[in-house]
Amino acid sequence: MERLDSQISALTTMKVAVFGTKKYDIDSLDAACRATTGIELSYFDPLLDKTTAVLTEGHQAVCIFVNDVCDATVLERLHQHGVKYIALRCAGFNNVDLAAAAKFDIKVARVPSYSPEAVAEFAVGMLLTVVRKYHKSFCRVREGNFLLDGLLGFNLAGKTVGIIGTGKIGLITGRILAKGFCCNVVGYDPYPTPQAGEYGIKYVDTLEELLKQSDIISLHCPLTEQTRHMINDDTLALTKPGVVLINTSRGGLIDTHSLIRALKSGHLGAVGLDVYEREAAYFFADSSAKIIHDDVFARLLTFYNVFMSGHQAYFTQEALSNIADTTVKNLKDLEATGTCENLVLNK
Ligand code: NAD
Repeated sequence: MERLDSQISALTTMKVAVFGTKKYDIDSLDAACRATTGIELSYFDPLLDKTTAVLTEGHQAVCIFVNDVCDATVLERLHQHGVKYIALRCAGFNNVDLAAAAKFDIKVARVPSYSPEAVAEFAVGMLLTVVRKYHKSFCRVREGNFLLDGLLGFNLAGKTVGIIGTGKIGLITGRILAKGFCCNVVGYDPYPTPQAGEYGIKYVDTLEELLKQSDIISLHCPLTEQTRHMINDDTLALTKPGVVLINTSRGGLIDTHSLIRALKSGHLGAVGLDVYEREAAYFFADSSAKIIHDDVFARLLTFYNVFMSGHQAYFTQEALSNIADTTVKNLKDLEATGTCENLVLNK
C-alpha cells in the first residue's frame, strides 16, 4: 500500500528546476513547501541560459528570477525537455520572450506584488543617502574623520519629486515623500490611477512636463520596448541642472552612456541606482576578487555622486516569504488547473 502511495505521489509530483538559487531562496521556498505536497524542487546555483537549460531535463516547471535568460533559444530547449511552466520569483517579466513561450505552449506566471513597501522604502532611503551622504559619513567616522566638508545636503521638504510609473511601488514612494517629507509629488503614467490623489501625487500630462519640473526623479515603471532607455540624452537635457535621479526599477530604463555623459558634464546632482542594464554579469555574486570587464559599469562606479546597490530594494523578510508563498501557489494552481491568477499574458 505504502509503495502504491509513493508511486501515485511520484506520478502527481511536479518537478521544478529552480535557477539562480541562494541560501535565502532555498530557506523561503522550503518553508513555503513545508505545508504542501505535490511539488519537488531541485535547486541550481547558476542562472538559466542556453548552457544551463540542459539541467531542466525531467522537470515540468522552471523557477527563475530577474537575470535569468529566457529567450526563444532557451524556451525551445525547455520545450524539448518537457517544461510546461515558468514561475518567475519576481514581478518584472522583461527577461522572458512571451511570444516564444506561447509558441512552445509554456505558461508563464509571476509574483505581481510581493512587497511594494520594500522597494518604495528602499528608494526613499537611497534618495536620503545620495542627498545627505550617509554612506560617506559612515566611512569617514570609522576612519576618525569628523569633518563635514563635502557632506552638505539639501532639505527634501518643498522639493518637487517626479514619480515615473504610479503603480504599486510608485504610489507608495509618492506617499512617503508627499506625506512624510512634505515634498510636492508629481506623477506621470500613461495609465493614471484614480487613487493617486489620496497618495499625495498630482499627475502631469506628459513625461516632458515631469522631467522639466522635478528636482528629484524616481523611476517605477516596467522595462518594455516603449520604456527602454527612456532616460537618454534627449530626456536628460529636459531635466533641471542638479537633478537627482533614483532607479530601483530596471537598469534598461536608463541609457547608461547618456547617464555618464550627464554625470561628467556635472548636470546631474546625484544618482542612486539599485539596477544596471547589464547587471546580470555581476549582481547577486561576489565579484570582489574579479576584474570588471564592463568599462561602462566600471566608469559608473567611479563617480563621487553615484550610489549603487546590487538589486537589493526588494530584499526584506516579508518580501522573500511572499515571493515563496505566491510562487508555490502559482505552481500548484498551474498543475491542478492549467492556469493561475498570476499568469503573464502575451498581449
Ligand atoms: P506596477 O505594474 O504596479 O506599476 C508599473 C506602472 O508603470 C503602471 O502603473 C504602468 O501603467 C506604468 N507605466 C507603464 N509604462 C509607462 C511609461 N511609459 N511611463 C510611465 N509609466 C509607465 O509595478 P510595480 O510593482 O510598481 O513595480 C514597478 C517596477 O519595479 C517593476 O516593473 C520592476 O521592474 C521594478 N521592481 C524592482 C525591484 C527591485 O528590487 N529593485 C523589485 C520589484 C519591482
